[in-house]
Parts: sequence; C-alpha cells; structure tokens
Amino acid sequence: MNLPILRAEHVKTWFPVRGLAGRPAGTVRAVDDVSLTLRQGETYGLVGETGCGKSTLGRTLIRLLEPTDGRIFLNDTEITSLTQRQLRPLRSKMQMIFQDPYSSLDGRMHVGDILTETLAIQGRASRRERMERSLRMLSEVGLPAEHFYRYPHELSGGQRQRVGIARALLSEPELIVCDEPVSALDVSVRSQIIRLLLELQRERSLTYLFISHDMSVVRYMADRVGVMYLGALVEEASVDELFDHAAHPYTRVLLSAVPTPDPRTRRQRIVLEGELPSPLSPPGGCPFHTRCAHATERCRTERPELKEIAPGHIASCHII
Ligand code: SF4
Repeated sequence: MNLPILRAEHVKTWFPVRGLAGRPAGTVRAVDDVSLTLRQGETYGLVGETGCGKSTLGRTLIRLLEPTDGRIFLNDTEITSLTQRQLRPLRSKMQMIFQDPYSSLDGRMHVGDILTETLAIQGRASRRERMERSLRMLSEVGLPAEHFYRYPHELSGGQRQRVGIARALLSEPELIVCDEPVSALDVSVRSQIIRLLLELQRERSLTYLFISHDMSVVRYMADRVGVMYLGALVEEASVDELFDHAAHPYTRVLLSAVPTPDPRTRRQRIVLEGELPSPLSPPGGCPFHTRCAHATERCRTERPELKEIAPGHIASCHII
C-alpha cells in the first residue's frame, strides 16, 4: 500500500453567518469533523450532492480555506497552522484544477502570460526559461505552441481546461485537487480531459483528490471513494467495493442513478425525497434521517459513528 501524502484529522470548516445589523445569526458547518488519508499516486474520488461540502473540504485540505479545527499533514509536515509565509515553499506541491476554467483564468492575459506568471510568482527560472518551460507544458497538455499568444476567450472550454491543467502542473505538484474538472465541459470533450489527467498522473506519479457529483466519472477515475453528506464523510471504500457493496443508504441512492449499459445489472432507481437540509441547522442524530427510507427512532437522536464493515470499507449507519 502506498504511503500517505496527505492526512486530515477531524477537520472542520465552519463559516459564521451574520444577520441584520451584522449580528451573529449562526454557523454554517460546511465541513464537520472529516478525517481521511490520501495515498501517493492514487485518485481519491469525493462525491455527494451540490452543497454537501466536498469543494470546501478540497480547498481546506490544501489551505486555500482556513480550517476551523482539526489537523492536516502534508507528508510528515503539519500544515494546519503554518502562516502563509511558512506555507509558501509547500504551495507548489499542492495545486488545484477548477470546475470553470474560464473564470479561473484572467481574461486580460494571454495564455503565455498566465503560465509564465505562475513560474515568476514562485521565483523560478529566468524569463527565457519560464517561456521555454511554459511552451513545453502547453505541448504536454496537447495544445500547439500558437496557443501561447491566445486569450482565454479565444479558446474552447476543453482548451481552457488544458491551460488550467498546464498551470497547475508547472509548479511540479505532488497533489492536485481536481474540483469538478469536467462537469462544465461538453460530453465529447470530457473523455479527452479525463484521459489527459490519467496520462499525466501515470507519467508524474500525481495524487488526485477528484471531486465530482458524477458517479460514472468517479468509477472510471478513482481508486478509492469517499461519500459526503452535509459536511461529513458517511462512507469510504475502494471504488470496486463501493460500487459492488455500497452499505450506506445515501450511497445506494447515488449509485441507483448511475446508468449501466447492461440491463441485467441495472439498479432500481431510488428517488431521494426532500432537499439537502441547511448546514446552518443540520438535523440532530443521523444527519440523513430526514430523507432516509430506513430511519428509526434511534436515527433521530443518536449520530452513528463511522465503523469498519469490511477491510478498508467504513460507513456510518445504525442498521449496517
Ligand atoms: Fe438511515 Fe438511520 Fe442509517 Fe442514518 S443511521 S442512514 S437514518 S438508517
């Protein structure tokens, strides 16, 4: 088993909410006590509905957001309370690829400036070397050299995402948080970007935290999968174990919506009632009890702990 590259222990990311006249009106518990480990060279798929906290968790793990509580280790270094200055040498090891490549690229800069600026910020290489390395990187992500002088609005969605990937790779990261990197792209382009990400991972031994609400993409990309509901991890397993033996009722709902080509293996669609409750006032007991078809009285009052139900497979539910 590969060594851990990133370890999170009981991480919380809470946001204070202010009401009228700026008075405190509560706390959004976007990430609420999550522990997980990412291993070198793996793709860890993080899934759940929009608003479940997966993007906030991804950003917190690489300190783009400040954790409210808990501890985060990159390799053996605890990064939780490092100042931004102390964090700077580690920044290049942790990068992010965003969902919307258009808004994440500065529209006033051409591609070449976007890429060379990344190296300049890191104080790397001479002007000439920065240009050469950026051109090489463009070619690695499958873009011809003439794109160096193009502006983001002159590129297609897939080309813009390739620039986003090139920018992330320029600092030679070990870990990349991919936040829904293909969900804003046309279906025809998605598989090209997925193949590119897998190819680059193989060549560079990258570790991905792959955030997605698309279970089919996660099945294709991930080695292990974590399922989040209302800021908490409710199930985690290897991708095959999760798809073949999902235990948590919420995971089974997510999987029931995944289309399968073979009608004999098609699952019966489970329709989830109601909306995701607000993380401002999460339900007591099991956070899923307001929508769970199997909820009992115990579920309304007692929060289930994550427990190991098979080697490497954990889930939090009273009836498992
Ligand atoms: Fe459903 Fe109860 Fe399990 Fe929560 S603990 S998922 S409410 S059965």
